[in-house]
Amino acid sequence: MTAYDITHHNYDVVVVGAGGAGLRATLGMAEQGLKTACVTKVFPTRSHTVAAQGGIAASLANMGPDNWQWHMYDTVKGSDWLGDTDAMEYMVREAPKAVYELEHYGVPFSRTEEGKIYQRPFGGHTTEFGEGPSVQRTCAAADRTGHAILHTLYGQSIKNDAQFFIEYFATDLIMSEDGVCQGVLAWKLDDGTLHAFNAKMVVLATGGYGRAYFSATSAHTCTGDGNAMIARQGLPLQDMEFVQFHPTGIYGSGCLITEGARGEGGYLTNSEGERFMERYAPTYKDLASRDVVSRCMTMEIRDGRGVGPNKDHIYLHLNHIPKETLAERLPGITESAEIFAGVDLTREPIPVLPTVHYNMGGIPTNYWGEVLNPTADNPDAIAPGLMAVGEAGCASVHGANRLGSNSLIDLVVFGRAAAIKAGQVVDPETPNPEFNKASLDAALARFDKVRYADGGTPTAELRLEMQKTMQDNAAVFRTDKVLAEGCEKMKVVAGKLDDLKLTDRSLVWNSDLMESLELTNLMPNAMATIVGAEARKESRGAHAHEDYPDRDDVNWRKHTLAVVDGAEVTLSYRPVHLDPLTTTDEGGIDVAKIAPKARVY
Ligand SMILES: Cc1cc2nc3c(=O)[nH]c(=O)nc-3n(C[C@H](O)[C@H](O)[C@H](O)COP(=O)(O)OP(=O)(O)OC[C@H]3O[C@@H](n4cnc5c(N)ncnc54)[C@H](O)[C@@H]3O)c2cc1C
Repeated sequence: MTAYDITHHNYDVVVVGAGGAGLRATLGMAEQGLKTACVTKVFPTRSHTVAAQGGIAASLANMGPDNWQWHMYDTVKGSDWLGDTDAMEYMVREAPKAVYELEHYGVPFSRTEEGKIYQRPFGGHTTEFGEGPSVQRTCAAADRTGHAILHTLYGQSIKNDAQFFIEYFATDLIMSEDGVCQGVLAWKLDDGTLHAFNAKMVVLATGGYGRAYFSATSAHTCTGDGNAMIARQGLPLQDMEFVQFHPTGIYGSGCLITEGARGEGGYLTNSEGERFMERYAPTYKDLASRDVVSRCMTMEIRDGRGVGPNKDHIYLHLNHIPKETLAERLPGITESAEIFAGVDLTREPIPVLPTVHYNMGGIPTNYWGEVLNPTADNPDAIAPGLMAVGEAGCASVHGANRLGSNSLIDLVVFGRAAAIKAGQVVDPETPNPEFNKASLDAALARFDKVRYADGGTPTAELRLEMQKTMQDNAAVFRTDKVLAEGCEKMKVVAGKLDDLKLTDRSLVWNSDLMESLELTNLMPNAMATIVGAEARKESRGAHAHEDYPDRDDVNWRKHTLAVVDGAEVTLSYRPVHLDPLTTTDEGGIDVAKIAPKARVY
């Protein structure tokens, strides 16, 4: 193995990732005086959060009656009763506080006539415990909400003296012999140096893994790196079979048209010009939950009512909405429609198709962001020194399906919670223990192995094979046959990682090496997803199984845990938290209100 020169760094906390979750955690840590480093492979404001358009959910009640109990009901129902009840209560109760905090940090929210934060309707967000009309709960900065949040949080973090290590690619965790996380190894992309960050707490905020699929709305950098670092330590990933398809990716490019477009009055039609959602979801129509709308679109296309020469997509209409409203509320997507679909949306419909958008599964945590390492005796046991927040984490507040605008709120609520918890458990006075040399050496050896890989399969070729297999065998419609075939195919694909071929061995701006490391990260995510899906014999949220069309709460209201070792995946399960944080005596929700029932919109 090459002898690498390593630069050592010492911090109280290292946050890996500078999206909404990573920046909110970084800011919270730094505000408390913890010595905090934020390591990120892209410039902070280029993280995928920048692309979030529609907004952030909180029951501020600025546009009409609303309260946290209604938001909780919608989140529980959206999750198809797979979310952890305590975590969901924590999120919706803290949401208004977290949004006002963002406002005070400087996020330029859109405003109502009276100067309050503007809120728009979003799919699955209702009033009166699903009995009343849609609610306007999603706070927005036009259709550039994520952009506004990232710029604000980055500025605030700098102000509070957080240290940023930008364009550093974290490769692996470094763990003590007895399983305490001690830090991360990172590769500095622009000069090729290696850096070891020693810390008392490592927070993984590395985002989702949309790029395991062929067509995704997420950035090319969404490769599930943090999830894979966890998997490589033999720790489990949770509920990975639940992958959200957004109803309105632009046909062809996959670029997202926000659900806010339907929130502002947009609707879908099939080849007969019919507004088909009225047939499937008579009450909330085009604003039913995402998994429901995506499935209905797929059914229309399969029944031969798709639009276009190949009848393989659907139209989204905004051309009836006044031009001034589009310019004020949806300027970004007006531009996207023109660039990516060649459509003037004030005059013609946009061609759209359900596209991979969000990963409900990820690294299991409690509602403080602490990573779980469940044992037979204790399904909530903690992996010391490790936290995970944002799309990489699974608290689990989204269960089997996430509601639109519930991710941005998840980022800031749990980024903040992780900082609060770290303030309690991290002692800046104690020195950091020395690295476990064996663990550091293992991380270096893996880096070296990928760098010098000299097999017969180029990275781009293997990545495409993985993406196509996942798209064909683990998408919206799932059957026993399709999934079993997918598992077999993916085993072969994952096996080919040992036959990888790199052509560039240098260390400075070596995109071949970076993409190869990312492929080694995507693969365990893909394996856990398809194997978990094959095993789950029911339909729940985003996991719609044609052979088992009903939800089965008796046998399957439980979280999947997947331990991935190369092409082998071992599954086990852990119970869903059914109890809320507080009782009705303490002002909590009446559990009868959130008891499982059929999920209709
Ligand atoms: C197009 C689009 C629109 C969306 N719109 C909305 C919306 O309106 N409302 C809503 O609630 N949700 C929305 N979502 C979902 C939401 O935006 C994401 O779930 C969320 O932004 C993820 O944030 P994050 O902080 O977890 O990760 P990201 O923003 O993806 O950031 C990941 C960070 O990790 C870093 N990183 C990753 N791997 C490494 C590594 N190996 N080493 C170092 N650093 C690493 C990256 O540099 C980056 O800084 C949208 C998603 C998409 C794709």
